Parts: sequence; C-alpha cells; structure tokens
Amino acid sequence: MSAGRLAGRRAIVTGAGSGIGAAVAARLAADGAQVFTADIQGEVDFIADLTEADANARLVAAAIERMGGLDTVVPCAGISAFHPLEGHDDAYFQRVLDVNLVAVFRLVREATPHLKAHGAGRIVTIGSTTSTYGDEGLCAYSASKHAVLGFTKSVAAELGPFGVTATCVQPGAIDTPMTAPAFDQMPEYRTFWEGKAPLRRLGQAGDIADVVAFLCSEDARFVSGHGLWVDGGAMVRH
Ligand code: NAD
Repeated sequence: MSAGRLAGRRAIVTGAGSGIGAAVAARLAADGAQVFTADIQGEVDFIADLTEADANARLVAAAIERMGGLDTVVPCAGISAFHPLEGHDDAYFQRVLDVNLVAVFRLVREATPHLKAHGAGRIVTIGSTTSTYGDEGLCAYSASKHAVLGFTKSVAAELGPFGVTATCVQPGAIDTPMTAPAFDQMPEYRTFWEGKAPLRRLGQAGDIADVVAFLCSEDARFVSGHGLWVDGGAMVRH
C-alpha cells in the first residue's frame, strides 16, 4: 500500500456495491483519491441500472458535480451465470452484453472529454481470464469479456495522444458474491480453481483492487493497451 499516491485523483468506480468494485473503491480512497461510487444496489453514491440509456451520462454529471472533475474510471459492474448454449435465451445473452460491455462503452465515452482535459487520465476495465479463453456455459460472459478487452485496446490507441492510459485487468477465480454460490454449491469447482492456480488459492477482491490502484497511479504511466491476468498464475496451465 502506498498511502497518498492517488492524492488529487477523482475516480468513478461502478459495481461498488459488492465484491471487486467495493474493494477497488476502498483501495483508491485509501490511496488518497476522491471516489464516486455507483451500482444498481448497495451503499453507493449513485444508484442506477447502468444499462439505462442515459444512466452513464447522469453518473458522470453527478460525479463531476460532487468532485469538481474526473480523471479516472473503473467500470467494475458485471453479471455472470452459467447457461449452456442450447436453450440460451436471447434476452439473457443481450443482458450480459448490455451490462458487461455496452454500459462500459457508455461510461468511457461520457468520461472521455474530462480524461482528455486532465492530461493523465486513467481507464481500468475489468475483463476476465475469459477475455482470452472460453469456458463451458459461459458463451455470453466470455463474448462480453473478450469484447471489453478489445474495446480497451482501441480506447488506448485513440486516447493515448491525450495522455490517457487504458488497461484491462483480467481476474481469475475470485471469491466474491458473484462466484460464492457456485463455489459453495460445487466444492469440486472450488477445489479445481484452487488447484489450477500455482499459488494454490482463490483470489480475493483485494488482490484485484491492489492491481487496479497501481494501474491508476503515476507508477503505471507507461502501461496502456494491456490486458493483465491477475489469477494466481492459473492461466499458465491453459
Ligand atoms: P459482484 O456480483 O460481487 O459485483 C458486481 C456488482 O455489479 C454488483 O454489486 C451488482 O449489483 C453490480 N451490477 C450488476 N449489474 C448492474 C447494473 N445493470 N447496473 C449497475 N450495477 C450493476 O461480482 P464481482 O465478482 O465483484 O465482479 C466484479 C467484476 O469483476 C465483474 O465485471 C466481473 O465480471 C469481474 N470478474 C469477476 C471474477 C470473479 O471470479 N469474481 C472473475 C473475473 C472477472
């Protein structure tokens, strides 16, 4: 922990009502940033379904009104569930894309003028190891997370000339309310992921938050367009 290394920074963190987003918001604040939090539920500054057409524009406006500016965005809100391809309904597939991809696009688009004006803006998206690989029952999720990684790379290319970096953190299996039901109901699933990681454990939300904080900091000023696995080494066995 580097107390104060984000002093002066003004960040939006979505999905901050739970899991990784909550840990990111706490970590950025502990490092000295002002943080404006959003979610569809929970104890956050801005409650909205971020798939609503104007929700991200309203979020950016509310954050700027509160903080006086904006230089960092970390869209963590996401959904996931196992659905086999056969019988996969259109509405759920679309919902996953809307939450995990379209809402991220809209937030970054709305934030862009402010990040450019700042001169050292930071965008840290949350992909997944399924941004690189696929998995059974995760066709919608994996499609959305591959797309987020591609989106992030193109944003990095477009905004780099304005001093803005865009990176994508790709968590492995992290013990959060998103994954807890599966880990609790299928102990073999937990054991599989613990064994797959050379570090021999599931990740914790703080493992991701610490890396996000680094990527938001001046220390990461020359890192952009990069997808970074934070998975205890699990993907070396893929
Ligand atoms: P989580 O369920 O604990 O948190 C996700 C948050 O997103 C929740 O608070 C939820 O209310 C919010 N959210 C969902 N839909 C929303 C909407 N329409 N509008 C606003 N907020 C909405 O899950 P988590 O594990 O902390 O996941 C955070 C991010 O990390 C997600 O993008 C997820 O895909 C990604 N991720 C998680 C894991 C893991 O193993 N837990 C692995 C890889 C990537």
